[in-house]
Amino acid sequence: MSGDLRERVLTRTKEATPEVIAIRRDLHAYPEVGFTELRTASKVARRLTDLGFQVRAGREVVKEEARLGVPTEAELAAHYDRARADGADPEFLELVRGGFTGVVGEITGARPGPTIAMRFDIDALPILEKASPDHVPVQEGFVSRYPGVMHSCGHDGHVAIGLGVAEVLAAMKDDLAGRIRLIFQPAEEGCRGAFAMMEAGVVEGVDYFFSIHLGLGAPSGSLYPVVDGYLASTKLDVTYGGQSAHAGVMPEAGRSALICAAQAALGLHAIPRHSAGPSRVNVGLLHAGSGRNIIADRAFMMVETRGSTADIDQFVLDRAMAILEGTALAHGCTVDIKVVGKTISGTSDPELADVLAQQAALVPGLNVSPTPMVTTGSEDATYFMRRVQEQGGMSVYMGLGSDLPSGHHTPAFDVQERDFADGIAAIVLTMLEVGNHPPKRSA
Ligand SMILES: [Zn+2]
Ligand SMILES: [Zn+2]
Repeated sequence: MSGDLRERVLTRTKEATPEVIAIRRDLHAYPEVGFTELRTASKVARRLTDLGFQVRAGREVVKEEARLGVPTEAELAAHYDRARADGADPEFLELVRGGFTGVVGEITGARPGPTIAMRFDIDALPILEKASPDHVPVQEGFVSRYPGVMHSCGHDGHVAIGLGVAEVLAAMKDDLAGRIRLIFQPAEEGCRGAFAMMEAGVVEGVDYFFSIHLGLGAPSGSLYPVVDGYLASTKLDVTYGGQSAHAGVMPEAGRSALICAAQAALGLHAIPRHSAGPSRVNVGLLHAGSGRNIIADRAFMMVETRGSTADIDQFVLDRAMAILEGTALAHGCTVDIKVVGKTISGTSDPELADVLAQQAALVPGLNVSPTPMVTTGSEDATYFMRRVQEQGGMSVYMGLGSDLPSGHHTPAFDVQERDFADGIAAIVLTMLEVGNHPPKRSA
């Protein structure tokens, strides 16, 4: 790539940065959890359209029956009303209505070349944001306006970076080779949205695929071309049904869903480790019972399993199912188990990561890590990564460092907005470079 082109990318990125930060602050103030990102998705679709991207949104890019953990109709309807009142784009709001909050924008370069895709997740979390004056979003007036919902994983930054990439790419159209597809995905938290977009075909025909996460414990000014170690995971909602009775007068007539669930929780945490790699199990929530002198007739648990491979996760899951069902049998309770999220592990291709590393090193002040970042979280972009690799393409998951005042998924979480420009420049330079590479797919 010529030095002149590189300079233009850096200059254009700098020019786009104030708007990128404004977008991030707007999204931070109006956070939306998985499949309710109506305002967010409608605004993303509008912005991409205005920038000249060909945009698809809603049912066309989110397969209905492949979605997991979708909120109830009543919840979706309430979020629709709220989004409309809070400035959603009216045209695209109709398209993404009903839990179809995915958006895909595509731009075609002046010269032929491969198809390059990148995934940005857009959802927030059910967390009450810190309200004290030492929290930057409070100081700067963009703290969450929706109590109990917060962008505390940095996905507001991901959307802003994605739209920044779109803006710079649109300005570089004449220098682009191939096609670039930007995928804005709902419901990453809980691993619920990527599978439904993959099943709708959004990564079909992709030769090179990228995904990104901000923060992850890495400092501002650093970029990790590879994030490794994402665990395969399954998320379960478990409901036990028992029989209520007077705890003093006739305890023998009751069947306690609470005791059943409590015993299941302990049993789940006693599942053995696996010799082939790390595994996890967690009961993160347990609600049961209605009063002191009543045998509890209902219990609800949120459970997750993880493993460094899909096989290890399946091992933990099989044991978990046996424990959940066996405990129900032992206590004379009914059990209903719903899979509300699922993901696989993912591996980046070193050859593509090298291209990213070389281009990121051209961004002044950005330190490129020679070693992968290793995490034990989970991430459903792995479905896209795997699908692209199955087609003969290559995939990379990168980490963009950011100094965090508090960890991911906590009330005082925040990212440094100054890191966005580095990410945008590194991504655009990489996409321009990869455009000169041959298509990978055998098809
Ligand atoms: Zn998260
Ligand atoms: Zn995240």
